[in-house]
Amino acid sequence: MRSTSITIHPNALTHNLQIIKSQLDRTTKVLAMVKADAYGHGIDATIPALIHADGFGVACLSEAMAVKQVLDGMNHKKPIVLIEGAFSLDEWKVAIDHDFGCLIHHENQLIWALSHRPKQDQFCHTIWLKYNTGMSRLGFNDDHIITAAKSLADAGYRLILTSHFACADDKSHPLNAQQISKFDQALACIRSFAPDTLASLCNSAGIFNFKHQHHDWVRAGIALYGSKPITDQSAKALNLMPAMTLSAQVMAIHTLAAGDSIGYSALWAAQKPHQIAVVSIGYGDGYPRVVMGAKVSVTDTSGNRHLCDIIGRVAMDMFMIDIDGLDIAINTPVVLWGDSPTIDEVAMCAGTIGYELMCRLTTRPKRCIMDTYLPKKEFK
Ligand SMILES: *Cc1c(COP(=O)(O)O)cnc(C)c1O
Repeated sequence: MRSTSITIHPNALTHNLQIIKSQLDRTTKVLAMVKADAYGHGIDATIPALIHADGFGVACLSEAMAVKQVLDGMNHKKPIVLIEGAFSLDEWKVAIDHDFGCLIHHENQLIWALSHRPKQDQFCHTIWLKYNTGMSRLGFNDDHIITAAKSLADAGYRLILTSHFACADDKSHPLNAQQISKFDQALACIRSFAPDTLASLCNSAGIFNFKHQHHDWVRAGIALYGSKPITDQSAKALNLMPAMTLSAQVMAIHTLAAGDSIGYSALWAAQKPHQIAVVSIGYGDGYPRVVMGAKVSVTDTSGNRHLCDIIGRVAMDMFMIDIDGLDIAINTPVVLWGDSPTIDEVAMCAGTIGYELMCRLTTRPKRCIMDTYLPKKEFK
């Protein structure tokens, strides 16, 4: 059987949540971002491992329903927050019926919230009010944020003022200070008439780069999954563990003669007799076709792991690797990303970020859950 698989490591997720919490004051809560099926990790595997988060953040109502179902199955009640809010009045009504926390970022959402109010004791009676401090994506602008806050506070809602960093991964980017300053000013102003207003500014990058901006809730995503949140340090340097291993196997081995070329467009040719292996994964599984200079880890017959180059073009179901001089057997496991190479290394070779590689995996690889992922032997 084709053994191409995505293995999720719940212990790594739990560990990463612990690392994030170690960065925070005891009073700061963690909204674990599990949108896009937990960044491709699968909410079924992810939520139990992150059950000590203070709540879960999703992008839409269907994701919220799916998360609620997993929590119900575990007999757990935890806040679930729609971080883009409702997309219609009907959705707003469904969201408050289910007590999902809602973000409000534009005028229509404000109107829905003012016309249909949840009960005082519901979690959704606290509104995540989004302020555009400089990213120009979602949120009320400077001229409307205070009046929006005032109308919600007058209607009896409690508020969490929220905003999103555009460049928190790069600590020295000047936009960070500008966003922080705007956020602080609006927060102080809103607290002058709604003193119990809470605040949430940081994503993963903000958690590590802006330790004085954690406020009441942080919204942690990528760091939970063990990929790097900030530009100048690797995930490993931050003590984050990869929560996913993508693996396949060697399905054929060939000895090429000098001059033989391989794969579509014959991009690579042997200079001398050369051993190559065919690996059972391709872009049909979600491995990026565009990689340049990516490596994979292969285990030899003595159990030692080696990093081998991908050669030629990645196809839909397969690609070739250079195993010249190594003693590799058919069916031996190949790691595409995990402990090594890391997803961040592959992302770099594909001109993208770990986030995208996680999210674009297809349904074809088998999915499994396994606590340990560390190899028995170190690399040669
Ligand atoms: C996805 C998301 C996050 C998490 O971002 P990471 O960079 O993955 O930590 C935080 N806040 C909002 C509003 C988001 O959409």
